[in-house]
Amino acid sequence: MDAIETVITDLEITYEPTNIYYQTIHSVLDAAELIELPRRLKLILAQPKNELIVHFPVRMDNGSFSLFKGYRVQHNNILGSYKGGIRYHHDVSLDHIKALAAIMTMKCALVQLPFGGAKGGVKVDPHAHTHSELTALTRRFTSALGTNIGPAYDIPAPDVGTNAQIMAWMADTYMNVHEPHERLDGGSVVTGKPLAFGGCHGREKATGQGVVFVIEDLIPEMGFRLDQVTFSLVGYGNVGSWTGRLLAERGATLRAVMDHTGAIGHARGIDAEKLADHVLQTGGVADFPDADPISERDFYRTDVDLFIPAALEQMIDIEQAQLLNCKILVEAGNTPCTPAAEIYLNNHDLPIFPAILCNAGGVTVSYFEWKQNRQAEVWDLADVDAQLKKMMSRTTARVKARARSLNCSMHQAAYCEALDHIRQVYELRGIFP
Ligand code: GLU
Repeated sequence: MDAIETVITDLEITYEPTNIYYQTIHSVLDAAELIELPRRLKLILAQPKNELIVHFPVRMDNGSFSLFKGYRVQHNNILGSYKGGIRYHHDVSLDHIKALAAIMTMKCALVQLPFGGAKGGVKVDPHAHTHSELTALTRRFTSALGTNIGPAYDIPAPDVGTNAQIMAWMADTYMNVHEPHERLDGGSVVTGKPLAFGGCHGREKATGQGVVFVIEDLIPEMGFRLDQVTFSLVGYGNVGSWTGRLLAERGATLRAVMDHTGAIGHARGIDAEKLADHVLQTGGVADFPDADPISERDFYRTDVDLFIPAALEQMIDIEQAQLLNCKILVEAGNTPCTPAAEIYLNNHDLPIFPAILCNAGGVTVSYFEWKQNRQAEVWDLADVDAQLKKMMSRTTARVKARARSLNCSMHQAAYCEALDHIRQVYELRGIFP
């Protein structure tokens, strides 16, 4: 049995190669091997510190009650308060949230933010509920989380299916159910709030903006010019649409897009702004008048420089990977490729810009928001963008240098960078008592 398998066996993690938690921990342990992380740290990082599951009833508009299941997993807080989004999706499960919490630990450590990693979610289809039902659900979930979240302990944020309005309800609920002396600071219990209620300029576009900064830094030396590249996107939600619009603004051509409603393509380019309006009005990319409907197979086979998955996890399996006709894969969503797809693409020398680097812009601007809330400051958009650019470029340069020194993939290099920082802090702090 190799070193990775012994950790997995010791912690009684289910050995199931298609399970996302197993896959995530395998990636972490694989990088841990490369930098010879001590076994005690491997054991600590291979499991979350806390896993909370809550069940709560919510009154529906018709007077009936529905019961919901919510999660908050706190993976690690050696670097600071737990941090990570809240997802509303019908497919969330404990293992899924555990994997995403571990990824948050890696992402925050990679950028060297003073945060640990967490993730939460409610098993619900937010589109199937009215505004008032979502308000009640969010308030009841927040109160069920109780003191498990807090501005100096665990700080949620938006994720798939949640947005600034939901963060506002969370913050308001937290401020109302806690002691008066905690209320003043209470707003910073969540980030990604609306601008008028303690939010940060540029937070909505932050993840897409971070993706674009990484592309901007890495492609010139690979022989590409940003104003001439072509790209395709999987997903046109927050991350996909902002990545699309910001790349188009810099002259890049969006050739194809796919989401849950269908796939569209246009050789001369799709107007990213108009498509964002269409998605806002109709809920998806299907039937966009200024592009042609294409099959899923043709979407993956579209000839582009950058293929950018910005949707749910594990969308690209070996079957999709074999169809790709791109020069670079940019992981804008969390773990969009299965390990099998990644091995296949590595074997075919396709460069992959790793997710924990590419999509770290969101949590980085969340950090700026939290900092502004705590210091009673308001930064303007130019300051936010400049700070984000600085942090993303610094991090990208470290990942590149590490990949070179270890002669490994950028994906492994990003995990090694994150783990090395965590190791350093564990060595300084020691293990209590
Ligand atoms: N949900 C986002 C992510 O996965 C943002 C997390 C945050 O801002 O705390 O990175």
